[in-house]
Parts: sequence; structure tokens; C-alpha cells
Amino acid sequence: MLGSNHHSTKLQNRSLVLKIICTRTNVSRIDIARQTGLSKMSITNIVSELISDGLVVEQTGQTAAKNGSIGRKPVFLSPGADRHLAIGLYISRDHATATLSNLKCEILCEKRCAFEFEESEISFTDKIKSLVHSVLDTGVASDKKIIGIGVASIGPLDIENGIILEPPNFHKLKSIPIGNILEKEFKCAVYTDNDMNAAALAEKLYGKAVNISDFAYVGVTNGIGSGIIADNTLFAGDMGFSGEIGHTSINFEGPKCACGNTGCLELYANIPEIVSQAGKSIILGMDSGLSELDEIVWTDIIKYAGAGDKLALNLIDRLCLYISIGLVNLINMFDPQIIYLGHDIALAGNLVTERLQSYLKDKTISSRYKSVPVEISAFGDKSPIIGSIAIVMDKLFNGVIPGF
Ligand SMILES: [Zn+2]
Repeated sequence: MLGSNHHSTKLQNRSLVLKIICTRTNVSRIDIARQTGLSKMSITNIVSELISDGLVVEQTGQTAAKNGSIGRKPVFLSPGADRHLAIGLYISRDHATATLSNLKCEILCEKRCAFEFEESEISFTDKIKSLVHSVLDTGVASDKKIIGIGVASIGPLDIENGIILEPPNFHKLKSIPIGNILEKEFKCAVYTDNDMNAAALAEKLYGKAVNISDFAYVGVTNGIGSGIIADNTLFAGDMGFSGEIGHTSINFEGPKCACGNTGCLELYANIPEIVSQAGKSIILGMDSGLSELDEIVWTDIIKYAGAGDKLALNLIDRLCLYISIGLVNLINMFDPQIIYLGHDIALAGNLVTERLQSYLKDKTISSRYKSVPVEISAFGDKSPIIGSIAIVMDKLFNGVIPGF
């Protein structure tokens, strides 16, 4: 640990121990020693400090009787009984969700608001502020300490300064200093990241990827994007613009994208596009059960595809074909162990994972040597919401939140 002084090493060790206790279950002091290589004495000191700060509690576990005699009951460590909470805020193109959660990333309360077709800067920030107030007003947080607010937002963002820059088709809003606005209103630390990066962090800290060092999270909703974990760390790039697979071109003669490029993947692979294709096909007279519905939504297409409706199946197949082109590029660039799918596409489950897996077969440079599984995220379509909380937790586990 070159260049680090005694104090920062102590802080790092404390954060690491807290991370293990919050993200694993049934953790004993011996488990922590095994996982960190820290001495028993250091662990005893750190754990005592975490207990006296109210961040950690001891719990006596049950143990099986051995040879007729009852063994000593193990003592497990877990996060303090919801004394510290985090606020998560997910901002998408058409709605926002605010949550309160404990240090195990368990949601204790959740509220959502929809955006109008076009919001002004004032109406947008008012809506966001009252949404966050609404989770605090539930009383869940009374007598609790708020460790910080995590904002998982549609990008592009200035992550360092907490600014929503100018997302395409986002109410013509630009340069919204969301970090400053929330810090002033709620008097606590605010951390912002892209919703795809946030979802990847959630998968790494609390989801299926706890023991996976290299993976990609791919979210498909109104657009498509990814968050990349390389060597156990979020790969952010220079300014946090990495993972934008939605703006890699799949057709250089294709339509112009709002980002400036042509034929971007996102123009083809997004959920509203698939829903609109369904409507167009029915107008053209395609035979499908979907024609009986007044209005088609994404979950209808999944439901009908699951029941064998040919049009619905074709639409999902087409969506998977487009996504697979992005995934081939991603696999060739990053060589992940696995890809997790989340945001709205997660609702389609096996309908998409199986198709994607077959489209990927034989198309990547590594396919002769390995296959890259495609699975649904542990948090399904809620992954960006859990991601917003994971942003704060990641800061906590890195010892950078003032006062924690
Ligand atoms: Zn683009």
C-alpha cells in the first residue's frame, strides 16, 4: 500500500470490513479474517468500533448438535437494525423512483412519479424534490441517519459534479445540477452516476456477480446501454461516458441519431420501437392476438409471445437480433465472464436470454474457446432502482462519505 498513511489504511480496512458485513450473510469474525487477511486483533478493534457507531450488530446463530452435545453457537455480524438508511433516486426519461433502503440494500419504502410529455427545469426539479420528500414523509426514516443520496440517471452526465448534461429526448433539459439541488434541499452527500453503471454496481455488490470479476450489465428500456465491471471495479472511462453500446452504429447508412452518429443500435433496439412495430404490423393486417387490445404495452408482447403468438414472437426475435449485434461488439471489446440483462427487457426472461444465447453462438472471437452466458439480473427490471442505492453503498464501502 504505497503512499498511504496509517489513518487512510485504517479507514480502508474499516470500510472493507463493513462491506463484507453488509453484502454477505452469516458473516463471522473468522470469515472476515479469511477474506481480508487482517489480523484477529485488527478485526476485533474494527468490529467494536462499527458496533459502537451503530453500523453493525452481533447476532447469535443456530448450530447443529454434534455427537449429541450442543456446540457453541456462532456469532454473526450484520448491519445495524436499520439505524442508517440510504436514499436512492432513479431518473429515467419518463418517470423517477425514490426509495429508502437499509445497508443490506433492502428497500423499506418506494415512491414513483411520472414526468409530463415536456417538463421545464423548474417543474422537473420540483417533482424530484417532492418525490424525495415523499419517501422521507412516510416516517420510515424518523430517528434514522441518512448516509447519502444516490442518483442513478439517464445519461450523459458529469458524474464528478453531479450534472445531468443533455440526454437525447429528455424534455429539452440540459445541464441540470441535480447533485447540488439535492444537497441543498436535503443537507446530505449526493452521488450521481449513469443508471447502467449503477445497475452494474448493484449486481456486483448485492446481486449475482458478488464473485464475478469481469462482467457487463446491459439494460434495455427506452434506449440501450451498459455498465462494465472490469477486474472487480466499475470501468468508468475518463469522464464516465463508457459502456454506451446504444450509440455504437449497426448501420453506417442508417438514420441519424441525436448523438451525432448514424444507425445507432439504440434506434433499433429499444422497447417503444418494438411496441410501435407491433401496432404497425396490426394496422397492416397481421394476424395476432394483440389486435384485440386497445393499446399494446411491452408486457402484452411478452405475454402473447409466451403463449406462442407468432407476431409477438417475431418482434422479440427481431429485438434480440439487434441486441445481439451490440453484445458481440461488447464481448469482443471486453471479454466478460457473463452478461446480465436488466431494465425493462428483464421482464421477458427466457424469451430473450435463450434467443440471445443462440444469436451469440459462433459470432465472437472467443466463441471457439468459451461461451458467454446471458442471464437476467438478480434485480430484474428493478436493477436501476437498486442501482441508485448501490451508488451510495459503494461510496460507503470506499470510505469516502464524510462522517461514515
Ligand atoms: Zn447515437
